[in-house]
Amino acid sequence: MENRRVRLRFAPSPTGGLHMGGVRTALFNYLFAKKHGGDFLLRIEDTDQTRYVKGAEEYIVAALEWSGIKIDEGVSVGGPHAPYRQSERKEKGIYQKYADQLVASGHAYYAFDTAEELDAMRKRLEAAKVAAPQYNSVSRQTMRNSTTLSEDEVKKLLDAKTPYVIRLKVPRNEEIRFHDIIRGWVVVNSSQVDDKVLLKSDGMPTYHLAHIVDDYLMEISHAVRGEEWLPSAPAHILIYRYLGWEEVMPQLAHLPLILKPDGNGKLSKRDKSGLPMFPLNWHDENTGENYLGYRESGFFPEAFANMLAMLGWNPGTTQEIFSMEELIQNFSFERVNKSGAKFDPEKTKWYNQQYLRKKSDAELAKLFRPILQEKLNEQGLSIDNFGVSYIEGVCKLVKEKSHFVAEFWESGKYFFIAPSSYDADVIKKRWNEQAASFIQEISVAYRDLADFTFEETEKTFKAVAEKMGIGAGSVMQLFRVCLSGVGGGPVLFEMVELLGKNEVVKRLEHALVNINK
Ligand code: GLU
Repeated sequence: MENRRVRLRFAPSPTGGLHMGGVRTALFNYLFAKKHGGDFLLRIEDTDQTRYVKGAEEYIVAALEWSGIKIDEGVSVGGPHAPYRQSERKEKGIYQKYADQLVASGHAYYAFDTAEELDAMRKRLEAAKVAAPQYNSVSRQTMRNSTTLSEDEVKKLLDAKTPYVIRLKVPRNEEIRFHDIIRGWVVVNSSQVDDKVLLKSDGMPTYHLAHIVDDYLMEISHAVRGEEWLPSAPAHILIYRYLGWEEVMPQLAHLPLILKPDGNGKLSKRDKSGLPMFPLNWHDENTGENYLGYRESGFFPEAFANMLAMLGWNPGTTQEIFSMEELIQNFSFERVNKSGAKFDPEKTKWYNQQYLRKKSDAELAKLFRPILQEKLNEQGLSIDNFGVSYIEGVCKLVKEKSHFVAEFWESGKYFFIAPSSYDADVIKKRWNEQAASFIQEISVAYRDLADFTFEETEKTFKAVAEKMGIGAGSVMQLFRVCLSGVGGGPVLFEMVELLGKNEVVKRLEHALVNINK
């Protein structure tokens, strides 16, 4: 199938909020589609109505959008293959005819077994120590289906509207080979494959039939999905073959698992590593559970997508920071690992920090503004007392040590509120008569300083210290504490310059009075 248009789909079931593993699957589909100038589709696989969760579909669409994954065709945008929701496609009778076709060609059959009969079969096989009891080429011979009943009996049952399912008739002993772009050739004997249900008794197709019919009709070129679908792939190959579509079936790729930070098992949506497992806040209406989102935790979508791409894929170089455009350019399934990828919470925060540092002070100030406004309001203060360039200046100074914009308040609140208490350890260690007179002297010197810049304030500081015969280094931290109340922070004289002459002098005088008390 050379020269085929590249079309990939993300096909989630709306059984809950889309967790980060799901977003990664969507992302890899998207990156590959875009790299090859193709289409990315969103199809909603809602054939299992018992597992349907309200709001899940809207959440999936919003999550992809926030993550920077653009949908070319699908539930939210429409397209030539609409509808893109399988329950609606079922209403249009899209699947039934293919199930019927498989029955007619002898590759599928009606099975009338009741739940009790199925249960009895399972118990019988368990008692006989069959390793994996399943409905297959052997056990089907003991069951009530159109391979064991006469044509007449079958007709009678169908006429009487006896509930039935349609099952795939898997051959007893045949080698099934297929190629996975990530895993290479996979060979399975058909004796390992069960007679999967294709159509349920309510006429709803199962995932197995529905996704194949849809991938075919929607001309999907590559089916990329989670590793958990690998065991079903041999049955899917048979379905493609029996429908006569093997030549045009999508190339398969099964993505590696995302593992817990300690590498011990699959990352769960209830993971307690401290970071969100969902892109956006998610409230599950069925269970009442709430999950925190990356968005609401202050992550940038670019950082989230970059981090996700590196979970299982690597560029083959040491580059770690990739824009979406760069991910698209560099992505290939050859560089996706077979083995699981460990989720790393620290590295995830590191990604956010890298993106934070790349933002301009103006952008950061815009993001910080609502947080600042709220904090100042809590203190009965107004943001209007601070100019735009002042707020940008604060962002510039505090961003280096922050992972999130929300941290700016904690690390820089003294830029907005003068300290009322002073780091006790520093005071105890550094405050003495000589230090106090230095603070006194420097406040006087600053009052007369015309050019209150980084360079001039530093020069003056050193000159005053020298004149008094004390090492500038020995009073620096104390000086800082007088201005901010805390012992650490940004480059000292940058802080001084930003605070400005009036504020600095005022704070020094205030410190002299209050520390001495
Ligand atoms: N509906 C399936 C899921 O939610 C899709 C699997 C596939 O992509 O084929 O995992």
